[in-house]
Amino acid sequence: MALHLEPVLPGSFLGILGGGQLGRMFTQAAQAMGYKVCVLDPDADSPAGSIAEKFINADYEDVKALKEMASLCASVSTEFENVPAQALDQLESLGAFVAPRSGCVSLAQNRIAEKKFLATWKSETNIGPAPHFVIEHDADIAHVPEDLLPGILKTARMGYDGKGQITVQNREELSAAWNQFARVPCVLEKRMDLDFEVSALAVRAYDDTVVVYPVSQNIHRDGILHTSTVPAPSLQPEQEMKIIEAAKALIRKIDYVGVLCIEFFVLKSGEIIANEIAPRPHNSGHYTMDACISSQFEQQVRAMARLPLGDTRLLAPVSMLNLLGDLWFEDSGNQAKEPAWNKVLAHSDAKLHLYGKAVPRIGRKMGHVNCLGETLDAARATCAAVASELG
Ligand code: ADP
Ligand code: MG
Repeated sequence: MALHLEPVLPGSFLGILGGGQLGRMFTQAAQAMGYKVCVLDPDADSPAGSIAEKFINADYEDVKALKEMASLCASVSTEFENVPAQALDQLESLGAFVAPRSGCVSLAQNRIAEKKFLATWKSETNIGPAPHFVIEHDADIAHVPEDLLPGILKTARMGYDGKGQITVQNREELSAAWNQFARVPCVLEKRMDLDFEVSALAVRAYDDTVVVYPVSQNIHRDGILHTSTVPAPSLQPEQEMKIIEAAKALIRKIDYVGVLCIEFFVLKSGEIIANEIAPRPHNSGHYTMDACISSQFEQQVRAMARLPLGDTRLLAPVSMLNLLGDLWFEDSGNQAKEPAWNKVLAHSDAKLHLYGKAVPRIGRKMGHVNCLGETLDAARATCAAVASELG
């Protein structure tokens, strides 16, 4: 990449593909810094589209829409990995600075490519993917090594929040699960004995500067992130250093510009496994909005505007609680209530973020609360209190 482009300064338009909550928080960060934002999303009712200066309501591959975006925006990024690589390439060929570039995004679109990449990276960092086997043909089922069972069958594409995954105990169940996925390309992963899960959020600038945020410890419920806590309570300092060094090496290796999240498993044996990468700000990095000098969304702005990166320092221990649409429903399943926001807002150290989604649904991410504390225990106690008050 030629190193001669000037930064894009406030007053200019920045473009984002995707208008969900990540696009919305990006838009808010960009606007706070004086930028204008253009959002492209096929959904007419998108959380980011409703607050952006310019909303283009069109498909990601709509050439006219991409031309409009490229003519308005000097720089474009994406809020999710499943944007067609072609759209990013097209924007680049139309003269926009695209960060991250399409090759980095496609790597995260396909678990087969992702695992292959993570495996090659192991020799450098000593952190590799879980043992796995690619399933693309009928015959592959018989060749799955016995020691990968029990395992988790994951579709190569379009999996998120635990969707596109089935746990299988034996070859018979594996075969049935693959049929259930209509025999699309899949990866069978050995079911690992997890001690806990963490993620690292790395940012790389146009000039090759890399910063990494403090590692967060993540708890999932039903495959969806529930809480992220920083500093990670169970992580040893040397494990955190190893993860941070690995994240730096990886982001440089793929020549990535922007915010990149890497999920890791820490096994009962102490071994660290790289699970998956997300080429964008991540739910487990929402804590940075209130607990760090620069949020992950400000970093996304800085990276795509070719500015120096912000400081990632943690200002206070924090525990982030996700707010799912489930909170709007009574146990009977009928939509019956507005969550008790007054109780959340009564905590002076809890920061409420709602994404402006009109319709709550079970499992839908509606917002989050960052619970800060003078100590880690205080932050976790506030998080537990907020969870029980809303529950
Ligand atoms: P998603 O794209 O849905 O986030 P992940 O691969 O991250 O998919 O899996 C979701 C969750 O399922 C993980 O955070 C972890 O809790 C659990 N999980 C996934 N793979 C394994 C595995 N190989 N062994 C044990 N648990 C796993
Ligand atoms: Mg995941």
